[in-house]
Amino acid sequence: MSEESKKIFVSPHIGKIAKDLDLPERVYMFDTTLRDGEQTPGISFTLQEKIQIATQLDKLGIDIIEAGMPVVSKGDYEACKKISKLGLNAEITGLARINRVDIDKVIECDMNSIHVFIATSDLHLKEKLKMTRDEVLEAITKETEYAKEHYSTVEFSAEDATRTDLDYLIKANNTAVEAGATRINIPDTVGTITPQGYAYIIREHKKVLPKNVRISVHCHDDFGLSTANSIAGVEAGASQIHSTILGIGERAGNVSMEEVVMSLYALYGIKGNMKIKYLYETAKMLERMTGFEISPNFPLVGSNAFKHESGIHAHAVIMNPRTYEPLTPELIGVPRTDKLSDIIEKSISIGKHTGGHSLGAKLEEFGFSNLSKSQFNEIRTEIKEIGDKGKQISDADLFAIATSVIGEVPEEEKTMNLEELSVMCGINVTPTATIRLQIKTNGEWIEQVGSAIGVGPVDAACNALQEVYNKFGYGIIKLKEYNIEAITGGTDALGQVKVLLEDHKGEQLKARAVDPDIVNASIKAMINGMNRYLAKRRIENRK
Ligand code: MN
Repeated sequence: MSEESKKIFVSPHIGKIAKDLDLPERVYMFDTTLRDGEQTPGISFTLQEKIQIATQLDKLGIDIIEAGMPVVSKGDYEACKKISKLGLNAEITGLARINRVDIDKVIECDMNSIHVFIATSDLHLKEKLKMTRDEVLEAITKETEYAKEHYSTVEFSAEDATRTDLDYLIKANNTAVEAGATRINIPDTVGTITPQGYAYIIREHKKVLPKNVRISVHCHDDFGLSTANSIAGVEAGASQIHSTILGIGERAGNVSMEEVVMSLYALYGIKGNMKIKYLYETAKMLERMTGFEISPNFPLVGSNAFKHESGIHAHAVIMNPRTYEPLTPELIGVPRTDKLSDIIEKSISIGKHTGGHSLGAKLEEFGFSNLSKSQFNEIRTEIKEIGDKGKQISDADLFAIATSVIGEVPEEEKTMNLEELSVMCGINVTPTATIRLQIKTNGEWIEQVGSAIGVGPVDAACNALQEVYNKFGYGIIKLKEYNIEAITGGTDALGQVKVLLEDHKGEQLKARAVDPDIVNASIKAMINGMNRYLAKRRIENRK
């Protein structure tokens, strides 16, 4: 396996058709989070936030940042001016309608380039602009020429392009180029085109526009086609994409920057200037700023994007993550290391669909390696029952279930080991017990001895154990219930002791042990319970 396919492995069939496409070598990313993105209902950025977003976009390697439309408000004007002065590597552009007032505002803000637009669809001409087709062409010529006097880079957008008569659209775009536009953006303003339809429009433009004019795509997600449409545009020869972080924008939003950047990168190897390792932190920053929560199933940056719940998938991912993941999440800054135990820990949620493989891996991680088939099935049944009730099962839950089925804590999770127990009892003797334990503190085993008296041998032994336990500051743990029964008949019968322990918060835990000597069985059950309690606490604290 090559280094690249260790990180990304997508359909090899793309390569076969790529030669028939008009793919550009370089695709420029034009970000409009601060302009079209800010038109999202309920979203508005402060000046400070706009500066933070622009700075982050620059760090990410975005080529062009549309900082706003200065004519719209004082806030937009200030932001355009400030962001232009930040000294970023990205080109800072401002939006203006095809009119003198708007264009002058962009000039005042001292921006690197200008983006001018006017609607061209008959619907917009009639209902919004109240202009004829010829009047629009005249305005394009006049105002683009004026913009060109101030800027070498002028981008022109025919608003509602995809619902405009194609001959007229090409005419409008040609008019803009003749007047000095260097980039032609073809917006799917209302998100009503299909990938094939969009590719057709782009190809028709490629036939007539000069080679040095950059064609740009601008897609909206009204039918959920914005990413497919943008990629289809690039496949037809467009070399610039307008997008927003997380696809925020009016109505269903603009195309998501994360999706188009990674589609180009992973599917076509078009990398441009993007530093994709900052994609996740950029998305998270916007999430924090807007309170616009990323849905768990959002491509690439959603919390479930790299999680595997089904057992068959999880098992395969442990063997090779590419089996069920197109690319490795670290590539875009989603935290995870490729260490096997981390994949288990971070990606496999133990839920209802957990099959044998991932559960086994998880149990092994806790140190339960030699489970019998019936123990394993019993654990799985309990997990599924909890899952059916709609509850997520945490590591601590799984550990508690496993230890209650198995009865003992695995060796590496133990805190205490019984070394020696002696009890003196009889008639006219005060029952006295001495206990010697190995206790693990800070990773080291140390020996501890305790002794106590009691009303009988079991009581004395339990008191001696309690005395040692209390020295370690683990909190108080009390014996609530005690039950003994003979498993087999006779005085040499095996005694089974079941205990119910309770901590200072009232949390209860059951434990049991079997031994021919009932005093030994009692102490072993207590120690089992204490070990389980402490191990469970530790696992909870790892979170
Ligand atoms: Mn738009």
